[in-house]
Amino acid sequence: MFDHPDFDDHEGVHVFSDPATGLRAIIAVHNTNRGPAAGGTRFWSYEDPKDAVTDALRLSKAMSFKNAMAGLDLGGGKAVILRPEGDFDREALFRAYGRAVEAVGGRYITAEDVGVSPTDMRVIKTQTNHVAGLDEGPAASGDPSPVTAEGVFRGIKVAVRHAMGLESLKGLRVAVQGLGHVGYGLCQHLHQAGAHLIVTDINPDVLKQAQNDFGAVVVKPDQIHAVTADIFAPCALGGAVSNSTLPAIRASIIAGAANNQLATSDMAEACRQRGVLYAPDYVINAGGIINVAAEVSGNYDKVWVQEKLEGLENTLKTIFERAAEQGVATTVIADAMARERLGVSS
Ligand code: NAD
Repeated sequence: MFDHPDFDDHEGVHVFSDPATGLRAIIAVHNTNRGPAAGGTRFWSYEDPKDAVTDALRLSKAMSFKNAMAGLDLGGGKAVILRPEGDFDREALFRAYGRAVEAVGGRYITAEDVGVSPTDMRVIKTQTNHVAGLDEGPAASGDPSPVTAEGVFRGIKVAVRHAMGLESLKGLRVAVQGLGHVGYGLCQHLHQAGAHLIVTDINPDVLKQAQNDFGAVVVKPDQIHAVTADIFAPCALGGAVSNSTLPAIRASIIAGAANNQLATSDMAEACRQRGVLYAPDYVINAGGIINVAAEVSGNYDKVWVQEKLEGLENTLKTIFERAAEQGVATTVIADAMARERLGVSS
């Protein structure tokens, strides 16, 4: 673990297994300097369990940076549950997972990520109080995805203003990869703003819906990055920007919801050299954790959430301006700001 390329001085990496329910989970706590680590739980099939460890470590570090950049009094952590093969009792599995969260003793607060719903959060809540993203209860904030989508939409507008000098998205073409909880919500905002949508997903049903709802043009998953578009919005899983996709990307802005959009960190500089403005993922996709933080505070306040989303816009603007002034990749500026806020040097 200590030699893992993504270990990055995690405070704790907890591994849980419960043969009775098939639970195999990793809870990674990266940094708690700003408060208890908060980040979602991902429920996913991994071909190799080692990939789940890498996912947990990379996502957890990103949460430290994300929470710091969103100005939240929360540290960074993330969890991954390896989806069991074959049949399993989902409720029993999430109960076992709730016990695992409880065992970390409040150093980690969970919420939804890919493959996990508010219903699962309710099951976790039967075992631990260190859970948010609930859809019932005094401070319940529900599914964070709509707020993530709103934050990404606001971020896209900041990027368009900076890179293209435009105040409106009307007539711009946006290529959206992944029409899940966040991607579909983002499409709704973009459609309302008058943008043209080019979309992909591996689920044909959502594609049909997007054609009906937005008049979206549908392309195959392996073509989305290469279509003629002004903005490429990765909203599926990580690694959308890589050595193999970047040369074909025609958009001048990359701004989306997915975590870990850059397959490797050098992609940020490669974007800059191609004249592509990259909105650092952990800055632009913080809407959901802002919503979760409102719930964690014990007093969900919509006005506070909106103020934090405005803060997200201002932070992105600062990153774009400083990166342009200094001639460096946007991630160089964002990472330095995040480290400063976290009180760590590397
Ligand atoms: P989701 O599971 O609801 O949606 C993901 C979508 O991507 C699904 O429709 C899936 O079919 C599609 N997909 C998967 N592989 C694909 C491929 N190869 N090509 C095209 N489409 C593909 O997840 P979500 O909650 O919408 O999250 C999307 C991304 O945003 C994830 O990377 C997640 O970590 C990140 N994110 C989500 C939130 C949130 O509030 N939900 C917050 C921050 C970041």
